[in-house]
Amino acid sequence: MFNRSLTLGKLAGIDVAIDVSWLLIFGLLWWNLSAGVLPTLQPQLSGTETWVWAMVGTFLFFGSVLLHELAHALVARKQGIPVKGITLFLFGGVAQIEQEPKRAQDEFFMALAGPAMSVVLAVTYYLLAGTAFLPEAFVSVLLWLTTVNVILATFNLLPGFPLDGGRVFRALVWSITDNLRLATRIATLSGQVIGYSFVGIGVFMALGNPVPILGSGLIGGVWAAFIGLFLSQAATSAYQTQELTSMLSEVTAEELMRTEVAAVAPDLRVHDLLATHVKTRKERVFPVVEATKLLGTVDMRQVMQVPRDDWPTVTVAEIMTPIDKLTTLQPQTEAAQAVTILTRAAQTEVPVTWRQQLKGMISLRDIGLWLSLNQGFDSRELDLSA
Ligand SMILES: [Zn+2]
Repeated sequence: MFNRSLTLGKLAGIDVAIDVSWLLIFGLLWWNLSAGVLPTLQPQLSGTETWVWAMVGTFLFFGSVLLHELAHALVARKQGIPVKGITLFLFGGVAQIEQEPKRAQDEFFMALAGPAMSVVLAVTYYLLAGTAFLPEAFVSVLLWLTTVNVILATFNLLPGFPLDGGRVFRALVWSITDNLRLATRIATLSGQVIGYSFVGIGVFMALGNPVPILGSGLIGGVWAAFIGLFLSQAATSAYQTQELTSMLSEVTAEELMRTEVAAVAPDLRVHDLLATHVKTRKERVFPVVEATKLLGTVDMRQVMQVPRDDWPTVTVAEIMTPIDKLTTLQPQTEAAQAVTILTRAAQTEVPVTWRQQLKGMISLRDIGLWLSLNQGFDSRELDLSA
């Protein structure tokens, strides 16, 4: 959903984009204003006037959502958390904040900033609507914007992760228990409950039963159920991501690396490498080591570029990737950070070194294997009923 976005420009140094899906919301709101709200409140307006005022309202709504997201982004940036940009999409917006907050209080203020902005906007629109000299149609638009911003703040404050309220809730549990993992478990569980409640309410509405605020009817019901499904899925995936990150922050590269690696000497000939190492081992990347000091690595792609006639004369040192061109990890690097580094590295196999000495080799496959072996144990440890 994030790949089809149109970049609009920069606001306070933050990239602003809209997802194509947002155009649907734009159209729906404009239609809601021009065919429903305005003809009821301002029946004296001509057709063209109604359309124009509906457009004004829709643009101001767009601005309101943008300011909500901008509030999140600016608070995040003030706390030293990098923000990539803001994308407005189907259910409002997303501030692309690049890392999770390190402290409960950072998350608390960052999450609260958006709904607080929506409340400020609602109050502003309401006060503006009270000023005497504005056209009546604009007053109706301002009152509609007041309601919409109140709904936006209220919905986002529901205590289910990853909604803003769910983040506030998580921050509170986190600060009380000092356990981010437990706090995430509880807040995402609440997100799932709220999500499925919306699905239930949606079905109830679709069957013709009225629900306070949300109304009744098939379209409203399907819409509520759709939002509920989206929320419960987002909660589940946020939980899984957090689980992986917590598991990986408890181990280091040293614990996950392979120590039995086929190191080769720099003066080894390509012919001998192929005859002795490649034929007998599964490895495709060989660290080149001289007296325990890592000089570089050589892989099969580099070996295959040597013409067959040169195999007996060319040495490994001549074709290897030297150490200064390699990504390496230190033994004490957290596995969670190692995943980020490995994902960006040009190599599939990364040497783990300490003071230039080779300690082992690590790849994303090694980390994946460890995760699949350990997942069972950790999820039992987390069982809340235990
Ligand atoms: Zn928000």
